[in-house]
Amino acid sequence: MNIPRPKAFLFDMDGTLYDSMPNHASSWYQMVCEQGIPCTPEEFFLYEGATGAWTVNLLFQRAYGRDASAEEVQRLYERKAEIFRSKPHPRVMPGARELVEAVRALPWHPQTILVTGSAQGSLLGSLNDDFPGAFPEERRVTALNVKRGKPAPDPFLQGASLAGVDPQGCIVIENAPLGVQSGKAAGCFTVAVTTGPIPRERMAEAGADLIFDSMPECAAKLPEMLCKN
Ligand code: CA
Repeated sequence: MNIPRPKAFLFDMDGTLYDSMPNHASSWYQMVCEQGIPCTPEEFFLYEGATGAWTVNLLFQRAYGRDASAEEVQRLYERKAEIFRSKPHPRVMPGARELVEAVRALPWHPQTILVTGSAQGSLLGSLNDDFPGAFPEERRVTALNVKRGKPAPDPFLQGASLAGVDPQGCIVIENAPLGVQSGKAAGCFTVAVTTGPIPRERMAEAGADLIFDSMPECAAKLPEMLCKN
């Protein structure tokens, strides 16, 4: 496979750098059940990558046939974040440090940028300790910086802009179909890693250019593939 040599890597956070999706999904499930809105524990893995507002509106449309008000979005997202914070701190995804270090050590030293739909301070605050030098605050796109989140192209377009690189010169690392759609819509070469219950077929349907079954596999193979080009 011919992969363009990237000038920047745009990394998703939840489910990619951190094994945080089980906590996010169970927090969403608990909060939505508290509201009396019918839902399943599994569906929240599919909404991964979207902003809190997008997910709350999807649930409100389904249950009540209308969008949530700004006040409802804020109240429910804050409740979800509160439940998330009460859970054990998620571990760094196995293989994530190895991948970040390997791409930073490539001979042409590509940049690393964080592109997340999250505004979760507990994880964002751990990045500098867990990935030293890779994602300082000026190299982050979060839910606080973009209006339209994934699956819209905006987050990755902004990530490319932060790097000062055309989207075509970026590789996106994602673990969720909505994130893959966003990366492709932005025009980036998009790598999907199946780190949770979502099968690789969903990543292919979303348009992934390349799919790995784990972060250790991605860390072992992707840098080598890039060096061969
Ligand atoms: Ca993710």
